[in-house]
Amino acid sequence: MKYDFINDFLSQNSEQFVTAAKAIHGFAELSLKEYKSCDFYCELLSKLGFTVTKGVCGVETAFTATYGSGSPKIAFLAEYDALAGLSQVGGITVKQEAVPGGNGHGCGHNMLGMGAAAAAYATMHWLKETGKQGTVVLVGCPGEEGGAAKAFMAKQNFFCDFDAAVTWHPGDVNTISAGGCNACIQTQYKFYGIAAHAAGCPEMGRSALDAVEMMNVGVQFLREHMPQNARIHYAITNSGGVSPNVVQPYASVLYMVRSPLVKKAVELQKRVDDIADGAALMSGCKVEKCFIDGTSDTIHNEVLCDVAYDALLMADAPQYTKAELDFAKAISETYGGACDISEYLPVGKAREVYSANCKQDGAYKAVLDFTVPHGDADSFSPGSTDVGDVSYQTPTVQVYTACFPAGAPGHSWQNVSCADSSFGYKGMIYAAKAMAITAAKLYDEPDTLAKAKSEFAVRTEGGFVSPIPDGAKPVVPEMI
Ligand SMILES: [Zn+2]
Repeated sequence: MKYDFINDFLSQNSEQFVTAAKAIHGFAELSLKEYKSCDFYCELLSKLGFTVTKGVCGVETAFTATYGSGSPKIAFLAEYDALAGLSQVGGITVKQEAVPGGNGHGCGHNMLGMGAAAAAYATMHWLKETGKQGTVVLVGCPGEEGGAAKAFMAKQNFFCDFDAAVTWHPGDVNTISAGGCNACIQTQYKFYGIAAHAAGCPEMGRSALDAVEMMNVGVQFLREHMPQNARIHYAITNSGGVSPNVVQPYASVLYMVRSPLVKKAVELQKRVDDIADGAALMSGCKVEKCFIDGTSDTIHNEVLCDVAYDALLMADAPQYTKAELDFAKAISETYGGACDISEYLPVGKAREVYSANCKQDGAYKAVLDFTVPHGDADSFSPGSTDVGDVSYQTPTVQVYTACFPAGAPGHSWQNVSCADSSFGYKGMIYAAKAMAITAAKLYDEPDTLAKAKSEFAVRTEGGFVSPIPDGAKPVVPEMI
């Protein structure tokens, strides 16, 4: 087959990326504090022959690793941040912390980053082998779980420089992500009042807690008069204390504003800001608005979805051992067993193929060892990702491969365990093969790339409104 070079190259060179992904799993660093992980990547990639730049776009733990010259210039996106409180020993089927109270790769970003690195390395060698012209760049994007570094990079137009971006995410099914998702803006509102004895001299007090409550009531009324598909969530992050006989001088509330269009999210955000100002005025408090992060909706690219889906079919799919299948099954039993996941797949062909293959001997398979066709531009996922901001600046596609058992809960100890298991790593190398073949097809077929770019131009005609306000800096989430 045409791209067997990539399949063979990655089969022969996968071990170093598995070892590296294990190291990142062990570091388990939180968003925007991925110092060891970033250093590890930079050292590895320069050893492999890439030109490495650390701290791109002013984000300390962001990097680029570049090989080749001229166009097409294709980016692979790497992520490597972990989640707090999810420390877990990898490759076992019981909950057991690796570091007491530590962090863990509950979203599998140790695999995500190294899968992308493996794809970039295979692409480098494919370019050398074929003598094709082009540039391949692994873009190290920190802070996906919090901080949204890609959105900050996009605010500086970083991704406009590429002809296409290819990425992936560990999942429970082999497919291509399609359609849109929600844009999301996070803002913390801090209200400052005046403390007073609540019975003795309440007239002296100005309650920050009142301000938070009035803001929340104001937003409840706003919900009646905003677009149907928008969402506003909040959490009271500081209620001012536990003493009702004190007029609370400080309180804070964290808001998330979501909409399927980033432009609309930015508009709605302004209305929420106005309500915060109103609540401060009514309560006699002061309000400080602290932007936390923002991500855009994703722009679908049908041409790239088709290329990546073909690539997924051309990539050598994992052959699992009995031990790996038993491991996935045992993991699935810890959350009630593998289940029907069809409602999370796009309506139509994807669900048909899934339904025809999802069972064995009458029971749902724990390992979805087949490939599901992608949805169309109307598919929608309600979550949010900073890959969206990339997709507004260059044609972008995301591969998914099965690294977790079917129906595994996201951000869970089960996923941390799978993220450092031979079952998970087989999914990672499968994704690397599919991504490298996707890129190779784009270097090989200028017409296909041109079509992807024309489609991108049409779908982004309305322009890009960054969800990041001018002058905002990435915020380390636990500093909120
Ligand atoms: Zn993730």
